[in-house]
Amino acid sequence: MAVIINENYLLIKSNYIFSEINQRVEKYQNDNPDVDIIRMGIGDVTRPLPRAVVEKFTEAVQEMGDAKSFRGYGPEQGYDFLINEIIKNDYAPRGIDLAPDEVFISDGAKCDTGNIQEIFGLLNTVAVTDPVYPVYVESNVMAGRTGPMGDDGRYQKLVYIPCTEDNGFVPELPTTPVDLIYLCFPNNPTGTALTKEQLAQWVDYARENNSIILFDAAYEAYIREDNIPHSIYEIEGAREVAIEFRSFSKNAGFTGTRCAFTVVPQELVGFDGEGNPHSINSLWNRRQTTKFNGVSYPIQMATCAVYSPEGQKEINESIDYYMNNASIIRNSLENLGLRVYGGINSPYIWVKTPQAMDSWQFFDLLLDEAHVVGTPGVGFGPSGEGYLRLTAFNTLENTEKAMERISKLNL
Ligand code: PLP
Repeated sequence: MAVIINENYLLIKSNYIFSEINQRVEKYQNDNPDVDIIRMGIGDVTRPLPRAVVEKFTEAVQEMGDAKSFRGYGPEQGYDFLINEIIKNDYAPRGIDLAPDEVFISDGAKCDTGNIQEIFGLLNTVAVTDPVYPVYVESNVMAGRTGPMGDDGRYQKLVYIPCTEDNGFVPELPTTPVDLIYLCFPNNPTGTALTKEQLAQWVDYARENNSIILFDAAYEAYIREDNIPHSIYEIEGAREVAIEFRSFSKNAGFTGTRCAFTVVPQELVGFDGEGNPHSINSLWNRRQTTKFNGVSYPIQMATCAVYSPEGQKEINESIDYYMNNASIIRNSLENLGLRVYGGINSPYIWVKTPQAMDSWQFFDLLLDEAHVVGTPGVGFGPSGEGYLRLTAFNTLENTEKAMERISKLNL
């Protein structure tokens, strides 16, 4: 007998789009070697780590090289010194009480949002907003919860909740019951956010239907407007129905450094086949202690510096820098008469394609005529068709140059 693979992996389709982007860009560059292509599709930050973070990081590395201060394995859930900083700075000022054992430090929101589904049964119905950050979908495909993709580009057993111009990018409550609901706000890729009242409808739905919301708040630091919740726990009752994912990637430039955390409140319960309740917090703790050995001490020390006054100052400067890019992109495209969304509470700008072009036609037009690379919206799900995502993470110079070039097009 030969080894049998997990055939669910063969059901994954969507990665083709990202290799397709690279192929088209590469081909264009080979055919036009002198053209300077500006990449506005990237979801990665470009500004360096704050100095306060680098200093703490360096200090902690030195400690690890000294027998007196060396540390081996740390707690799988993270060191209390960082957990306490998170609770004190991110939650307490918003009136949210969290216990230290409700916060789990990790090396990324990608892993946590991808791994969380492991603690839930395979028979749960899963809902995602469409378009969507692909990790939620593909981790469930791998687990076997979705079935194959149909001709309509949707996995057959997944519930898709469209977020488009037609509903103002506010997901409507599902018409058939769902158990697990992934929500990401401010949203990647649409860049739009939900108000407290809009998010409260989902919390109420989850409470009424015994569902669990998996709330990804990776872009929380970009929120500028007052009525947008920074945490789902600002909504009454959310502790009973929501897990929250946060990351230091996009607020503090940790994409290459890796630190994030997940909040799992003690009130959250799921049920076994006989209807007995079980603590979701205990299951996640079990999962993490079995499969994860914690984030390194120097990184957790460095992350603490994110909350220092100097760290905060530098972080805010970087976020302001990106958000200035975002408003340049928004204004330039609006001046061209395009319909533009996002970019107010997030670094993503979601552009409706002009002249009824599809996502790929608009992608090709921008590449060929402005030498600017975006991400075709259809890559994030069927409801992304007819849109293109641009990001504010490039330099100011490149952002301005890209907008100047696009402004010369006849759109
Ligand atoms: N969640 C969303 C919605 C994202 O867009 C990203 C990264 O692009 C992540 C999570 C990944 O975060 P991390 O770098 O902490 O793994």
